[in-house]
Amino acid sequence: MADMRVLTTCPRDCYDACGIEVSLRDGAVRRVRGDRDHPVSRGRLCRKCATAYNGVLLDPRARLLTPLRREGPKGSGRFTPVSWDEALAEIAQRLMAVAADPGANAILSAHYTGTFALLGYHFPNRFLRRLGVREVDPDTICNKAGQVALEYMYGTSLDGFDPRSAGDAACIMVWGANPSASAPHQHEHWLPEAPGRVIVVDSVRTPTARQADLHLQPFPGSDAALAFSIAHVFRRDGLLDRGLLAGHAIGWEELEPQLERHTPGWGERVTGVPAAAIEQAAHWYGTGPSLLWIGQGFQRQPRGGNAVRAVAQLAALSGNLGRPGTGFLYLNGAGNRMLDEDYIAGADLAGSPPDPISHMDLAECLEDPRRSRALLCWNINIAASNPDQARLRRALTRTDLFTVAIDLFATDTTDLADIVLPAASFLESDDLVASYFHLSLGAQVKVIEPLGQSLPNTEIFRRLAAAAGFNDPELHEPDEQVIAEVLRRAGLGIDFASLARQGTAWIDGEPRVQFPDLKFPTPSGKIELASTRAEADGHPRVPQPHADPRPADGRLRLLTPASPWLLNDSFANEARLARRIGPATIALHPADAAERGLAAGDRALARGPAGQLELIVTLSPDLPRGVAFSAKGRWPKLEGSGANVNALNPGTPSDMGASTTVHGLEITLTHAP
Ligand code: SF4
Repeated sequence: MADMRVLTTCPRDCYDACGIEVSLRDGAVRRVRGDRDHPVSRGRLCRKCATAYNGVLLDPRARLLTPLRREGPKGSGRFTPVSWDEALAEIAQRLMAVAADPGANAILSAHYTGTFALLGYHFPNRFLRRLGVREVDPDTICNKAGQVALEYMYGTSLDGFDPRSAGDAACIMVWGANPSASAPHQHEHWLPEAPGRVIVVDSVRTPTARQADLHLQPFPGSDAALAFSIAHVFRRDGLLDRGLLAGHAIGWEELEPQLERHTPGWGERVTGVPAAAIEQAAHWYGTGPSLLWIGQGFQRQPRGGNAVRAVAQLAALSGNLGRPGTGFLYLNGAGNRMLDEDYIAGADLAGSPPDPISHMDLAECLEDPRRSRALLCWNINIAASNPDQARLRRALTRTDLFTVAIDLFATDTTDLADIVLPAASFLESDDLVASYFHLSLGAQVKVIEPLGQSLPNTEIFRRLAAAAGFNDPELHEPDEQVIAEVLRRAGLGIDFASLARQGTAWIDGEPRVQFPDLKFPTPSGKIELASTRAEADGHPRVPQPHADPRPADGRLRLLTPASPWLLNDSFANEARLARRIGPATIALHPADAAERGLAAGDRALARGPAGQLELIVTLSPDLPRGVAFSAKGRWPKLEGSGANVNALNPGTPSDMGASTTVHGLEITLTHAP
């Protein structure tokens, strides 16, 4: 009998939102692959998903199949299966007791992008908002500094350029993103096929940087200084759009005096980028029309918000806005496709929610019984992904902290929970996927029944609402009704059945121009190069030409970005991926290794502000001197050390948004004893 073919969409935290084709035979999945007709995936998934979707994701031996109640001490991983009714009754009773005394603000909800499908990501918030819990601001573990910075300047971080406009661009500048790992199809197709020149700004000579027309390699933490020296060239060489600055921006007169002395020569001394390359980039980008892809990497540093403001101002100064082939992109939020995320998340149910905390403060908050009595972790594995790992782990062993973890697999975080609930995978429920790069909307289509007793997030939280005695209709709205309502409100003229048949719908027939009328959603309606809101929040009114001091006393600046083989910390338990990745490594420039008497394959001890970790040395001429590189995403429980690279990170918050500064760490590296 011929295989049945079902189209669906990848809901991972990834720019690409690939179209997927699932072959089914006799109701069982035979193969998960890229949809051959999908313009992004073109028949191929990334290596991580191609492996995991045909491996651990469908493996009942690897998946959590029933609710579990803790039996042994926290962290022992000893659990007993219990029924859903039992598990939910206990959770509801414990949460309601905390809500009654000392109050629901002592219940923390930690979540992020385990799934980025709209319902799976947002719907649980309906119950959590109704209960009045304190949210751990999800973006603080990732990209919040950049969001705040762009909101100050342009009024939005979620309304980026339409990637289809690359056909009109003479230049694309990719600043602080590594598509070869985090947007593989943009690396393989979008950038090479764009007719314009490609400039990559990245402290690491990544595969994307290697294939670019020009690679600028600033020392980490010097992006703002580099942006100012590019802006200097704009001003010196007549590349400023003075008409746009006069008519559509405020603060140019405050910014302009700063440009005079930040010459390419100064930029070279501060950033390490040759002055000639700064000049070249300024001319290519400044002449335009140009697109600016603002990645999330360079904002994960102590002055990351300032760096994003400094880089983002380049679009305004050079007039690369408001016409075809121009604009910037940080994220394309679902809202710019009229997909109503607030409705899905039940924003109206919030009342006056407690102030959120940052992921940077989570360990401290969980240590304190006055601030935290219960914790719900869903779509996240905090014991792997969060900073201050040892301290967080200790806090999670508090016996008076009632912890619920929802996941597909037994992770470090579920091992520390009191109750574990099994979540269904993306192949096991209908949902909607809005790419944060392309202006598309994909159908996530239920292909098989959930494995074991696992359930989609939506159903888990509907049942939890019932167990808690909440009868609000919003908390019990079925998925098909929510999906239909989202599509109706979006006015796209498509229902879920048709979307599922075609897999992905593309919004607008023609490439959209970002800010076509040069009106911006800031208080003034203009680009706010000088921001009174930033000033009121304690920041400089205008971006600053800042560069972090270089590490001293033999320390190295540590970068811990994405691996091309893992999706954040998803799939680290996939055996074939683990074999491919091998042991945890730290890469450094051969000269830095030689200075420390280290060679490839040596065991080295990295010491950071929050702890230490043993890693295997590799050598890479693709790194600047003084920089070390160790990819994120490994599971502590699968490491001999019981820790991953987040053990080194103290969780110091960024200048804006109290966001992660994981690329701002300084470490020492010596031979392991
Ligand atoms: S993670 Fe990204 S590249 Fe990989 S299959 Fe999913 S959308 Fe495609």
